[in-house]
Amino acid sequence: MSQGSTQNPFQLAQEQLDRAAGIMKLDPGIHAVLREPSRELHVSIPVRMDDGSVRVFKGFRVQYNDARGPCKGGIRFHPEETIDTVRALAAWMTWKTAVVNIPLGGGKGGVICNPKEMSPGELERLSRGYIDQVGRILGPEKDIPAPDVYTNPQIMAWMADEYAKLRGHYVPGVITGKPIEIGGSEGRGDATARGAYYTIREACKKLKLDLKQATFAVQGFGNAGQHIATILSEAGARLVAVSDSKGGVLNRDGLDAAALIAHKRQTGTVADFPGADKISNEELLVLDVDIMCPSALENQFTHENADQVKAKIVAELANGPTTLEADEIFHRKGVFVIPDFLCNAGGVTVSYFEVVQNLYNFYWDLQKVHQMLDRKMTDAFWAVDQAAEKYRVDPRMAAYVVALDRVANAIRLRGIV
Ligand code: GLU
Repeated sequence: MSQGSTQNPFQLAQEQLDRAAGIMKLDPGIHAVLREPSRELHVSIPVRMDDGSVRVFKGFRVQYNDARGPCKGGIRFHPEETIDTVRALAAWMTWKTAVVNIPLGGGKGGVICNPKEMSPGELERLSRGYIDQVGRILGPEKDIPAPDVYTNPQIMAWMADEYAKLRGHYVPGVITGKPIEIGGSEGRGDATARGAYYTIREACKKLKLDLKQATFAVQGFGNAGQHIATILSEAGARLVAVSDSKGGVLNRDGLDAAALIAHKRQTGTVADFPGADKISNEELLVLDVDIMCPSALENQFTHENADQVKAKIVAELANGPTTLEADEIFHRKGVFVIPDFLCNAGGVTVSYFEVVQNLYNFYWDLQKVHQMLDRKMTDAFWAVDQAAEKYRVDPRMAAYVVALDRVANAIRLRGIV
């Protein structure tokens, strides 16, 4: 397999699907349907910048598959966004909603922009402009966006408000990850990391690893990274290294998650956190820790570094951090991977709870959200584990088998092919 093929995320997604389809002998017609997004919209979004000029941003919304329910998935604002990245992420959303068995399909959106260089006003106008362009294909029964890389609850609020203007009334269920005051759910803020924590807890039981004695490292210190650092520390594990896009820090005696978060808020990075040694992203990924938490972007573990990975568990809070070659190496070495669309499914699971609450206009407390999330993630973890035993495959392929079986059943029952 060429290196190029593993660097295009959509080719990676298709290759993973092909491999799983072979393992479970998926019907060729259904396989063909699932290799391609069902629908995609490409838009140009004009934005008046603060200096008076107009810039036109490219954006996308991919509706990958809605056999099991409305499409669901976040919107990324990223300077290196491409349609193939969005397609891959939309495919992974389809498997994600299926593996945790929530009645939704998969979709994803993206805008090519650098939010770090934009003012709040410019970001608001871009967010509203995106909805003006794609709003016609959104709705609680059609497609429901959410936050993702470099988007947040405030951006969701602007988008929900713009959608209200299109429809003539407020429709909170059109988008999730909203602030609580306007129909967000308790527990959505840290849901991705909390869901990942439940899967890590179960993986530790399986591997007979004591979480309280475990060390861990976090690559990427955005929403998922900050929360997993906090939650695993609260569970008794020791955080020894953290990195973000500007650099990383290491302290074998332990790093304080709250202090790191405060430092990042003040300085924009963890890189110069006091009382710790500097460490590069590349060094962090192969650090000798029990649990490695990639929580940033795609393509972190490749054939070049997978062999050097020393972690016992790789918990993929990021989407697509591991290439197919790296997967094979991990499997051979006995590194236990909690695959992305299982590990990070907590975000979309609480998003689903958010839509349910919006539609009922009745809201749950935090305890109920945690309880329901725990059940979904724990059930999904062991369903995947059972499939891994049955088919004698690695956890990623097992997660595919579980998810594809559910999507394929829906396609068959509806008579789509
Ligand atoms: N962006 C998150 C993900 O990749 C959440 C998606 C959602 O809540 O719809 O899973």
